[in-house]
Amino acid sequence: MSIPGSLYIAGVWSEGSGPAIDVHNPSDGSVIAAPASATEADVAAALAAARAAQRAWARTPSAERGAHLRAIADLVAENADTLAALLVREVGKPRAEADGEVAFAESLLRYNAEWDRRIEGDILPGDTPGEQIHLLREPLGVVAAICPWNYPLAVLCRKLAPALVTGNVLVAKPSEVTPLATIEFFRLIDERLDLPAGVLNLVTGAGATGQALVDSPQTNLISFTGHRDTGKAIMAKAAGNLTRVSLELGGKAPAIVAADADLDITIPALITARHTNAGQVCTCAERVLVDRAIADEFTERYIVAASALVVGDPAGSGTEMGPMVSAAQLEKVVSAVALAQEQGAAVALGGGRPDGAQFADGYWHAPTVLTGLEPGMAILSDEIFGPVTPILAVDDISAALGEANNSRYGLSAYVFSRDYATVMRTVDELDFGEIYINRTHGESVHAHHAGYKESGMGGEDGRWGMLRYTQVKTAYHRYG
Ligand code: NAD
Repeated sequence: MSIPGSLYIAGVWSEGSGPAIDVHNPSDGSVIAAPASATEADVAAALAAARAAQRAWARTPSAERGAHLRAIADLVAENADTLAALLVREVGKPRAEADGEVAFAESLLRYNAEWDRRIEGDILPGDTPGEQIHLLREPLGVVAAICPWNYPLAVLCRKLAPALVTGNVLVAKPSEVTPLATIEFFRLIDERLDLPAGVLNLVTGAGATGQALVDSPQTNLISFTGHRDTGKAIMAKAAGNLTRVSLELGGKAPAIVAADADLDITIPALITARHTNAGQVCTCAERVLVDRAIADEFTERYIVAASALVVGDPAGSGTEMGPMVSAAQLEKVVSAVALAQEQGAAVALGGGRPDGAQFADGYWHAPTVLTGLEPGMAILSDEIFGPVTPILAVDDISAALGEANNSRYGLSAYVFSRDYATVMRTVDELDFGEIYINRTHGESVHAHHAGYKESGMGGEDGRWGMLRYTQVKTAYHRYG
């Protein structure tokens, strides 16, 4: 793929001054592009360009900012085919999922544009006669959007849209593993729209480039989505300048299946919740906690459904699961399964690379089911981030809740039951920020996506997510 350069700073494309990083097609491991990395000096230039543009952007009437976002959304819709094809190529996700990601990105842009005339403050009476207190919602300034590889476009738009509508400017850093759809998104904006220079900037590169964004006092908010350990390192570094952080991190979602669950709903919901994007979604069901009374029937039916998944060329129509994104992610999953086996787990399905010549190269892992588990095994506590389902039989809802909450993570959880009281008890007692009841995963743009505990700090989407890109200024008016 030929790219115009991978840095977009103050409306001008350039090459990074740092080393090039290969981008692979996960289906066969071939190198498809190698954008150069931004160095510390490149990052400083991007932040300076953003800073220079920020005040004028914040003063632009909010309805105009909303119009710019709607124009970006239109552009995404018109170029959905190109963007989805790039996501298939660099992430390895099936085409239907890539289409879904592009549509979600568009939706995030349109939803946040709706806030343009609704960013409101408050007016309070003062404590003395002839005084009013005005509370004003103001932007934070320069936002660094540091993104992961699993949803490059959607996560970018999840940050970009609320940031821009509230009057912030942005420097985006995509994952070095999957920068191509992001570069194309910026190329389209540059060629087709008239956004003021410096409002949107792009730097490519690996952790060191992200680190330069974090270290700079020019950054006012680090909006990060990625691994928990990276999030912790970012927060520690951000403390140096007391830079705000918004951290969307990993998860270990429990799926509680009660004895009265409707398995006709539960099984397909969990198959999707585990195998979307080859299991590489922060909200994926990472461990099933099923009532012992139905554990055998559940496991048998789940294995039948998982074996029926169509694994293959992600560009092919009808494909339900593609490869994992990289050799490193595949290796992580292979090691996690090996460790589970050492600790006594049985592989009831799959267990490694699928059979067939088409899976010989690239980063493929078959849908895998692990049984014979005991509480305390690593596979039940560490994020797998691959198509592996550990199934643990539990005695009752109390035991399921105990096991579910026995985690350092707190992003998503699933509950399957026909009983209202059971469902409400789990909603009350689960220490998780997002609970899916009798359904599979998938956030709504107007809700709120936030992790409890070590799954994050902050939260995105909806009104509360949008407001996180603002700060409140108080002005005391004495007129009496
Ligand atoms: P990662 O933490 O390895 O990388 C994420 C981004 O951070 C990349 O752009 C990377 O280059 C950059 N980075 C790496 N080191 C950095 C540093 N020291 N300073 C600044 N930036 C740095 O994560 P990943 O492997 O790309 O993504 C997978 C993880 O993301 C999983 O744990 C998954 O659960 C999580 N995730 C969470 C959400 C959510 O909304 N909660 C969504 C998607 C992914």
